[in-house]
Amino acid sequence: MTVTRLGVADASRHMLAGVEPLPGEEVTLERALGRVLARDVVSTITLPPWNNASMDGFALRGADVAGASAERPVRLRVVETIAAGRRGTRDVGPGEATRIMTGAPVPPGADSVVRVEDTDGGADPGTVMVRDDRDAGRNVRARGEDIRADSVVLTAGTAIAAAHVGVLSSVGCAAPFVHRRPRVAVLATGDELVPLERFAEVQAGERIVSSNSYSLAAAVEAAGGEPVPLGIAPDDPGALAHCLRRADGCDMVLTSGGVSVGDFDYTRAVVGTLGGELSLWRVRMRPGAPLGFGRLFSVPWLGLPGNPVSALVTFELFARPLLRVLAGHRCPHRPTVQVVLGQNVELAAPLTHYLRAVFAVEEDGRLVATLTGAQSSGMLTSMALADGLLVLPGDRASYAAGTLASAVMLDGDLKGSVRFPG
Ligand code: AMP
Ligand code: MG
Repeated sequence: MTVTRLGVADASRHMLAGVEPLPGEEVTLERALGRVLARDVVSTITLPPWNNASMDGFALRGADVAGASAERPVRLRVVETIAAGRRGTRDVGPGEATRIMTGAPVPPGADSVVRVEDTDGGADPGTVMVRDDRDAGRNVRARGEDIRADSVVLTAGTAIAAAHVGVLSSVGCAAPFVHRRPRVAVLATGDELVPLERFAEVQAGERIVSSNSYSLAAAVEAAGGEPVPLGIAPDDPGALAHCLRRADGCDMVLTSGGVSVGDFDYTRAVVGTLGGELSLWRVRMRPGAPLGFGRLFSVPWLGLPGNPVSALVTFELFARPLLRVLAGHRCPHRPTVQVVLGQNVELAAPLTHYLRAVFAVEEDGRLVATLTGAQSSGMLTSMALADGLLVLPGDRASYAAGTLASAVMLDGDLKGSVRFPG
Protein backbone atom coordinates (compact mmCIF):
# COMPACT_ATOMS: atom_id res chain seq x y z
CA MET A 1 0.00 0.00 0.00
CA THR A 2 1.25 3.50 -0.80
CA VAL A 3 0.46 6.48 1.43
CA THR A 4 0.43 9.83 -0.31
CA ARG A 5 0.62 13.50 0.52
CA LEU A 6 1.88 13.22 4.09
CA GLY A 7 3.37 16.25 5.84
CA VAL A 8 7.15 16.32 6.30
CA ALA A 9 7.22 15.07 9.91
CA ASP A 10 4.84 12.17 9.21
CA ALA A 11 6.73 11.27 6.05
CA SER A 12 10.03 11.17 7.94
CA ARG A 13 8.47 9.06 10.72
CA HIS A 14 7.15 6.66 8.09
CA MET A 15 10.61 6.32 6.56
CA LEU A 16 12.46 5.86 9.85
CA ALA A 17 10.02 3.29 11.28
CA GLY A 18 11.78 0.00 11.86
CA VAL A 19 15.18 1.16 10.52
CA GLU A 20 17.97 -0.29 12.65
CA PRO A 21 21.65 0.65 12.87
CA LEU A 22 24.00 -1.47 10.77
CA PRO A 23 26.15 -4.07 12.53
CA GLY A 24 29.47 -3.08 14.09
CA GLU A 25 33.07 -3.41 12.99
CA GLU A 26 36.42 -2.43 14.44
CA VAL A 27 38.17 0.58 12.95
CA THR A 28 41.51 2.10 13.82
CA LEU A 29 41.28 5.19 15.98
CA GLU A 30 42.65 7.30 13.11
CA ARG A 31 39.55 6.40 11.08
CA ALA A 32 37.01 6.63 13.88
CA LEU A 33 36.09 10.32 13.62
CA GLY A 34 32.36 10.70 12.87
CA ARG A 35 31.60 7.04 13.44
CA VAL A 36 29.18 5.88 16.17
CA LEU A 37 30.13 3.46 18.95
CA ALA A 38 28.26 0.16 18.65
CA ARG A 39 29.27 -0.93 22.17
CA ASP A 40 30.02 0.68 25.50
CA VAL A 41 33.72 1.33 26.02
CA VAL A 42 34.96 0.12 29.42
CA SER A 43 38.26 1.39 30.75
CA THR A 44 40.79 -1.10 32.06
CA ILE A 45 42.77 1.66 33.73
CA THR A 46 42.32 4.49 36.22
CA LEU A 47 43.01 8.09 35.17
CA PRO A 48 44.83 10.01 36.31
CA PRO A 49 46.91 7.04 37.42
CA TRP A 50 48.46 8.96 40.32
CA ASN A 51 47.82 12.10 42.34
CA ASN A 52 49.58 14.75 40.29
CA ALA A 53 50.37 18.44 40.27
CA SER A 54 48.12 20.76 38.30
CA MET A 55 50.68 23.60 38.56
CA ASP A 56 54.41 24.05 38.36
CA GLY A 57 55.46 24.84 41.94
CA PHE A 58 56.19 23.19 45.27
CA ALA A 59 54.47 20.15 46.76
CA LEU A 60 54.10 20.60 50.47
CA ARG A 61 51.86 20.23 53.51
CA GLY A 62 49.16 22.93 53.47
CA ALA A 63 49.33 23.32 57.24
CA ASP A 64 52.96 24.42 56.92
CA VAL A 65 52.09 27.53 54.88
CA ALA A 66 48.94 28.63 56.75
CA GLY A 67 49.14 32.42 57.16
CA ALA A 68 52.02 32.87 54.69
CA SER A 69 52.06 36.32 53.07
CA ALA A 70 54.51 38.67 51.37
CA GLU A 71 55.21 40.28 54.76
CA ARG A 72 55.45 36.97 56.60
CA PRO A 73 56.79 34.40 54.13
CA VAL A 74 57.32 30.80 55.26
CA ARG A 75 60.66 29.11 54.60
CA LEU A 76 60.66 25.39 53.73
CA ARG A 77 63.46 22.94 52.96
CA VAL A 78 63.43 21.68 49.34
CA VAL A 79 64.19 17.96 49.38
CA GLU A 80 64.18 17.15 45.64
CA THR A 81 62.79 18.04 42.18
CA ILE A 82 60.24 15.92 40.29
CA ALA A 83 59.77 16.48 36.55
CA ALA A 84 56.72 15.18 34.64
CA GLY A 85 57.51 11.59 33.69
CA ARG A 86 59.60 11.07 36.85
CA ARG A 87 58.76 9.76 40.28
CA GLY A 88 59.90 11.25 43.56
CA THR A 89 62.06 9.22 45.91
CA ARG A 90 61.20 11.00 49.15
CA ASP A 91 58.11 11.67 51.19
CA VAL A 92 57.42 15.29 52.10
CA GLY A 93 57.71 15.78 55.86
CA PRO A 94 56.77 18.77 58.03
CA GLY A 95 58.76 21.87 57.03
CA GLU A 96 59.70 20.29 53.70
CA ALA A 97 58.77 20.87 50.06
CA THR A 98 59.46 19.15 46.73
CA ARG A 99 59.90 21.23 43.60
CA ILE A 100 57.36 19.75 41.15
CA MET A 101 56.25 20.20 37.54
CA THR A 102 52.69 19.98 36.16
CA GLY A 103 51.60 16.35 35.77
CA ALA A 104 54.33 14.91 37.99
CA PRO A 105 53.24 12.57 40.83
CA VAL A 106 52.67 14.40 44.09
CA PRO A 107 54.89 12.66 46.67
CA PRO A 108 53.38 11.05 49.78
CA GLY A 109 53.03 13.48 52.66
CA ALA A 110 52.20 16.49 50.46
CA ASP A 111 48.59 17.62 50.13
CA SER A 112 49.09 20.86 48.20
CA VAL A 113 51.05 22.34 45.32
CA VAL A 114 51.86 26.02 45.78
CA ARG A 115 52.29 27.70 42.39
CA VAL A 116 55.80 28.91 41.68
CA GLU A 117 54.55 32.51 41.32
CA ASP A 118 53.68 32.56 45.04
CA THR A 119 57.26 31.71 46.01
CA ASP A 120 60.75 33.05 45.47
CA GLY A 121 61.21 30.09 43.12
CA GLY A 122 63.68 28.48 45.47
CA ALA A 123 66.25 31.25 44.85
CA ASP A 124 68.46 29.95 47.66
CA PRO A 125 69.49 26.38 46.90
CA GLY A 126 67.82 23.95 49.28
CA THR A 127 65.07 26.34 50.46
CA VAL A 128 61.98 28.06 49.21
CA MET A 129 60.13 31.09 50.56
CA VAL A 130 56.32 30.78 50.24
CA ARG A 131 54.58 34.19 50.11
CA ASP A 132 50.90 33.21 49.91
CA ASP A 133 48.74 30.47 51.42
CA ARG A 134 45.92 30.52 48.84
CA ASP A 135 47.06 27.17 47.38
CA ALA A 136 46.96 25.32 50.72
CA GLY A 137 44.98 22.13 50.02
CA ARG A 138 44.90 22.83 46.26
CA ASN A 139 46.36 21.98 42.89
CA VAL A 140 46.50 18.23 43.38
CA ARG A 141 44.57 16.24 40.75
CA ALA A 142 43.38 13.11 42.50
CA ARG A 143 44.06 9.63 41.15
CA GLY A 144 40.91 8.38 39.39
CA GLU A 145 39.09 11.73 39.37
CA ASP A 146 38.50 11.41 35.59
CA ILE A 147 38.15 7.67 34.89
CA ARG A 148 37.94 4.60 37.12
CA ALA A 149 39.08 1.17 36.04
CA ASP A 150 36.18 -1.10 34.96
CA SER A 151 33.82 1.83 34.45
CA VAL A 152 31.99 2.71 31.22
CA VAL A 153 33.70 5.79 29.78
CA LEU A 154 31.70 6.14 26.55
CA THR A 155 28.33 4.58 25.85
CA ALA A 156 27.07 2.85 22.72
CA GLY A 157 25.48 5.42 20.43
CA THR A 158 28.15 8.05 21.05
CA ALA A 159 29.18 9.85 17.86
CA ILE A 160 32.95 10.11 17.90
CA ALA A 161 34.32 13.67 17.82
CA ALA A 162 37.82 14.89 18.59
CA ALA A 163 37.32 14.75 22.37
CA HIS A 164 36.10 11.14 22.14
CA VAL A 165 39.15 10.22 20.09
CA GLY A 166 41.18 11.66 22.97
CA VAL A 167 39.26 9.67 25.60
CA LEU A 168 39.53 6.46 23.57
CA SER A 169 43.25 6.89 23.13
CA SER A 170 43.83 7.64 26.80
CA VAL A 171 42.15 4.37 27.84
CA GLY A 172 44.09 2.41 25.22
CA CYS A 173 41.18 1.77 22.83
CA ALA A 174 43.10 1.70 19.53
CA ALA A 175 40.31 0.00 17.56
CA PRO A 176 36.83 1.10 18.68
CA PHE A 177 33.84 -1.04 17.67
CA VAL A 178 31.58 1.21 15.59
CA HIS A 179 28.54 0.83 13.37
CA ARG A 180 29.35 0.16 9.75
CA ARG A 181 29.17 3.15 7.40
CA PRO A 182 26.08 2.86 5.20
CA ARG A 183 26.90 2.19 1.55
CA VAL A 184 24.49 4.36 -0.40
CA ALA A 185 23.81 3.81 -4.10
CA VAL A 186 23.35 7.07 -6.02
CA LEU A 187 21.68 6.90 -9.45
CA ALA A 188 20.62 9.87 -11.59
CA THR A 189 17.99 9.48 -14.28
CA GLY A 190 17.37 11.61 -17.35
CA ASP A 191 18.18 11.65 -21.07
CA GLU A 192 19.29 15.27 -20.80
CA LEU A 193 22.13 14.48 -18.36
CA VAL A 194 25.82 13.83 -18.90
CA PRO A 195 28.75 13.27 -16.53
CA LEU A 196 31.55 15.82 -16.34
CA GLU A 197 33.66 13.85 -18.82
CA ARG A 198 31.12 14.88 -21.48
CA PHE A 199 31.17 18.59 -20.67
CA ALA A 200 31.79 19.40 -24.36
CA GLU A 201 28.15 18.45 -25.03
CA VAL A 202 27.10 20.88 -22.31
CA GLN A 203 29.16 23.63 -23.91
CA ALA A 204 27.57 22.78 -27.25
CA GLY A 205 24.17 23.45 -25.65
CA GLU A 206 22.96 19.86 -26.04
CA ARG A 207 23.01 18.48 -22.50
CA ILE A 208 23.32 19.54 -18.84
CA VAL A 209 25.67 18.17 -16.20
CA SER A 210 24.10 15.63 -13.87
CA SER A 211 24.91 17.80 -10.88
CA ASN A 212 22.81 15.55 -8.63
CA SER A 213 25.28 12.72 -9.22
CA TYR A 214 27.96 14.84 -7.65
CA SER A 215 26.00 16.78 -5.03
CA LEU A 216 24.21 13.69 -3.68
CA ALA A 217 27.42 11.66 -3.50
CA ALA A 218 29.00 14.56 -1.61
CA ALA A 219 25.96 14.84 0.68
CA VAL A 220 26.18 11.11 1.45
CA GLU A 221 29.82 11.47 2.32
CA ALA A 222 29.24 14.59 4.42
CA ALA A 223 26.55 12.70 6.35
CA GLY A 224 28.99 9.88 7.15
CA GLY A 225 27.99 7.42 4.43
CA GLU A 226 29.93 5.82 1.64
CA PRO A 227 28.55 6.82 -1.76
CA VAL A 228 28.35 4.12 -4.43
CA PRO A 229 27.99 6.09 -7.68
CA LEU A 230 25.84 4.29 -10.25
CA GLY A 231 26.03 6.96 -12.92
CA ILE A 232 23.15 8.16 -15.09
CA ALA A 233 20.28 6.02 -16.35
CA PRO A 234 18.42 7.05 -19.49
CA ASP A 235 14.65 7.57 -19.46
CA ASP A 236 13.96 4.04 -20.59
CA PRO A 237 12.47 1.38 -18.29
CA GLY A 238 14.75 -1.45 -19.41
CA ALA A 239 17.93 0.59 -19.20
CA LEU A 240 16.86 2.10 -15.89
CA ALA A 241 16.22 -1.37 -14.44
CA HIS A 242 19.64 -2.49 -15.64
CA CYS A 243 21.36 0.45 -13.89
CA LEU A 244 19.32 0.10 -10.73
CA ARG A 245 20.17 -3.59 -10.35
CA ARG A 246 23.69 -2.56 -9.47
CA ALA A 247 22.30 -1.07 -6.24
CA ASP A 248 21.72 -4.60 -4.94
CA GLY A 249 23.96 -5.11 -1.89
CA CYS A 250 23.98 -1.47 -0.81
CA ASP A 251 22.43 -0.37 2.52
CA MET A 252 20.28 2.33 0.97
CA VAL A 253 19.35 3.44 -2.54
CA LEU A 254 19.00 7.03 -3.75
CA THR A 255 17.64 7.81 -7.18
CA SER A 256 17.04 11.30 -8.48
CA GLY A 257 14.56 12.33 -11.12
CA GLY A 258 11.87 10.48 -13.02
CA VAL A 259 9.67 10.11 -9.97
CA SER A 260 6.99 12.64 -10.90
CA VAL A 261 4.07 12.37 -13.32
CA GLY A 262 5.86 13.19 -16.59
CA ASP A 263 5.52 10.92 -19.62
CA PHE A 264 9.07 9.65 -19.15
CA ASP A 265 9.07 9.28 -15.34
CA TYR A 266 9.75 5.57 -14.97
CA THR A 267 11.51 5.31 -11.61
CA ARG A 268 8.50 4.21 -9.55
CA ALA A 269 7.42 1.60 -12.08
CA VAL A 270 10.93 0.18 -12.42
CA VAL A 271 11.34 -0.14 -8.66
CA GLY A 272 8.21 -2.32 -8.81
CA THR A 273 9.50 -4.52 -11.63
CA LEU A 274 12.71 -5.12 -9.64
CA GLY A 275 10.63 -6.52 -6.77
CA GLY A 276 10.71 -3.30 -4.77
CA GLU A 277 7.76 -1.52 -3.27
CA LEU A 278 6.65 2.11 -3.17
CA SER A 279 5.19 2.79 0.27
CA LEU A 280 5.06 6.59 0.20
CA TRP A 281 4.68 9.08 -2.61
CA ARG A 282 4.43 12.87 -2.59
CA VAL A 283 5.02 15.02 0.45
CA ARG A 284 3.22 18.27 1.26
CA MET A 285 6.27 20.46 0.89
CA ARG A 286 8.03 22.76 -1.55
CA PRO A 287 10.53 22.14 -2.96
CA GLY A 288 10.48 18.37 -3.11
CA ALA A 289 6.81 17.43 -3.41
CA PRO A 290 7.21 14.55 -5.91
CA LEU A 291 9.16 12.32 -3.55
CA GLY A 292 8.97 8.52 -3.52
CA PHE A 293 10.00 6.15 -0.77
CA GLY A 294 9.90 2.42 -0.34
CA ARG A 295 12.08 -0.64 -0.26
CA LEU A 296 14.27 -2.07 -2.98
CA PHE A 297 16.52 -5.11 -2.56
CA SER A 298 15.27 -5.17 1.07
CA VAL A 299 16.79 -1.77 1.93
CA PRO A 300 15.29 1.74 2.02
CA TRP A 301 14.94 3.40 -1.36
CA LEU A 302 14.36 7.13 -1.74
CA GLY A 303 13.23 8.47 -5.08
CA LEU A 304 14.33 12.09 -4.86
CA PRO A 305 12.97 14.65 -7.30
CA GLY A 306 15.31 15.62 -10.13
CA ASN A 307 15.44 19.36 -9.60
CA PRO A 308 18.85 19.98 -8.04
CA VAL A 309 17.55 22.02 -5.09
CA SER A 310 14.65 19.63 -4.48
CA ALA A 311 17.07 16.71 -4.53
CA LEU A 312 19.33 18.28 -1.90
CA VAL A 313 16.52 19.60 0.31
CA THR A 314 14.78 16.21 0.37
CA PHE A 315 18.16 14.56 0.96
CA GLU A 316 18.61 16.76 4.04
CA LEU A 317 15.12 16.20 5.41
CA PHE A 318 14.68 12.49 4.65
CA ALA A 319 17.76 10.73 3.31
CA ARG A 320 20.25 12.13 5.79
CA PRO A 321 18.24 11.07 8.88
CA LEU A 322 17.80 7.58 7.39
CA LEU A 323 21.49 7.31 6.66
CA ARG A 324 22.36 8.49 10.14
CA VAL A 325 20.07 5.98 11.84
CA LEU A 326 21.78 3.24 9.80
CA ALA A 327 25.14 4.67 10.93
CA GLY A 328 24.02 4.39 14.57
CA HIS A 329 23.18 8.00 15.41
CA ARG A 330 20.49 8.39 18.08
CA CYS A 331 19.48 11.94 17.04
CA PRO A 332 19.47 11.76 13.26
CA HIS A 333 17.80 15.10 12.51
CA ARG A 334 19.52 18.43 11.97
CA PRO A 335 18.92 20.89 14.80
CA THR A 336 16.06 23.36 14.39
CA VAL A 337 16.56 26.92 15.59
CA GLN A 338 14.27 29.89 16.04
CA VAL A 339 14.87 32.79 13.65
CA VAL A 340 13.37 36.20 12.96
CA LEU A 341 12.37 36.96 9.37
CA GLY A 342 14.54 39.74 7.99
CA GLN A 343 12.15 40.39 5.11
CA ASN A 344 8.56 39.86 3.95
CA VAL A 345 7.99 36.46 2.33
CA GLU A 346 5.15 35.45 0.01
CA LEU A 347 4.32 31.77 -0.47
CA ALA A 348 3.10 30.60 -3.87
CA ALA A 349 1.29 27.45 -2.71
CA PRO A 350 -0.38 26.07 0.45
CA LEU A 351 2.54 23.72 1.16
CA THR A 352 5.20 23.84 3.87
CA HIS A 353 8.05 25.80 2.30
CA TYR A 354 11.73 25.13 2.94
CA LEU A 355 13.38 28.34 1.81
CA ARG A 356 17.12 28.75 1.48
CA ALA A 357 18.27 31.42 3.90
CA VAL A 358 21.31 33.11 5.38
CA PHE A 359 21.32 33.65 9.14
CA ALA A 360 22.97 36.69 10.68
CA VAL A 361 23.66 36.81 14.41
CA GLU A 362 22.36 40.06 15.92
CA GLU A 363 24.04 41.62 18.92
CA ASP A 364 21.25 40.39 21.18
CA GLY A 365 21.93 36.84 19.99
CA ARG A 366 18.89 36.50 17.73
CA LEU A 367 19.29 34.93 14.32
CA VAL A 368 17.85 36.98 11.49
CA ALA A 369 17.01 35.02 8.35
CA THR A 370 17.26 36.50 4.87
CA LEU A 371 16.50 34.53 1.70
CA THR A 372 19.47 33.69 -0.52
CA GLY A 373 17.61 35.16 -3.49
CA ALA A 374 15.19 33.61 -5.96
CA GLN A 375 13.87 30.28 -4.71
CA SER A 376 13.43 28.32 -7.92
CA SER A 377 14.08 24.63 -7.31
CA GLY A 378 16.46 24.66 -10.26
CA MET A 379 18.73 27.33 -8.76
CA LEU A 380 21.43 25.38 -7.05
CA THR A 381 23.35 28.50 -6.03
CA SER A 382 20.48 29.34 -3.63
CA MET A 383 21.41 26.16 -1.76
CA ALA A 384 25.15 26.78 -1.93
CA LEU A 385 24.75 30.18 -0.24
CA ALA A 386 22.38 29.00 2.48
CA ASP A 387 23.10 28.54 6.17
CA GLY A 388 19.82 26.70 6.56
CA LEU A 389 16.25 26.13 5.50
CA LEU A 390 13.60 28.52 6.72
CA VAL A 391 10.45 26.51 7.44
CA LEU A 392 7.24 28.39 6.62
CA PRO A 393 3.96 26.47 6.93
CA GLY A 394 1.61 26.95 3.99
CA ASP A 395 -1.48 27.85 6.02
CA ARG A 396 -0.59 31.51 5.43
CA ALA A 397 0.13 33.09 2.06
CA SER A 398 2.52 35.72 3.40
CA TYR A 399 4.83 36.31 6.35
CA ALA A 400 5.89 39.78 7.45
CA ALA A 401 9.43 40.80 8.37
CA GLY A 402 9.92 40.37 12.12
CA THR A 403 7.83 37.19 12.32
CA LEU A 404 9.37 34.36 14.36
CA ALA A 405 9.89 31.14 12.43
CA SER A 406 11.83 27.93 12.75
CA ALA A 407 14.72 26.94 10.54
CA VAL A 408 16.73 23.81 9.94
CA MET A 409 20.46 24.38 10.30
CA LEU A 410 22.43 22.87 7.44
CA ASP A 411 25.77 23.22 9.18
CA GLY A 412 26.93 24.52 12.54
CA ASP A 413 29.10 27.20 10.97
CA LEU A 414 27.28 30.22 9.61
CA LYS A 415 28.49 31.40 6.21
CA GLY A 416 26.58 34.67 6.48
CA SER A 417 28.23 35.81 9.67
CA VAL A 418 31.83 35.45 8.58
CA ARG A 419 33.90 38.19 10.21
CA PHE A 420 37.55 38.87 9.73
CA PRO A 421 39.64 40.33 12.52
CA GLY A 422 40.21 44.09 12.33
P1 AMP B 1 12.61 15.13 -13.21
O1 AMP B 1 12.41 14.99 -11.75
O2 AMP B 1 13.28 13.96 -13.83
O3 AMP B 1 11.32 15.50 -13.89
O4 AMP B 1 13.59 16.35 -13.41
C1 AMP B 1 13.21 17.63 -12.97
C2 AMP B 1 14.24 18.66 -13.40
O5 AMP B 1 15.46 18.36 -12.77
C3 AMP B 1 14.54 18.68 -14.87
O6 AMP B 1 14.74 20.03 -15.25
C4 AMP B 1 15.81 17.88 -15.00
O7 AMP B 1 16.57 18.26 -16.11
C5 AMP B 1 16.50 18.23 -13.74
N1 AMP B 1 17.37 17.13 -13.31
C6 AMP B 1 17.00 15.85 -13.16
N2 AMP B 1 18.03 15.10 -12.77
C7 AMP B 1 19.09 15.92 -12.67
C8 AMP B 1 20.44 15.73 -12.32
N3 AMP B 1 20.92 14.54 -12.00
N4 AMP B 1 21.26 16.80 -12.32
C9 AMP B 1 20.79 18.02 -12.66
N5 AMP B 1 19.52 18.27 -12.98
C10 AMP B 1 18.67 17.22 -13.02
MG1 MG C 1 13.68 13.40 -15.73
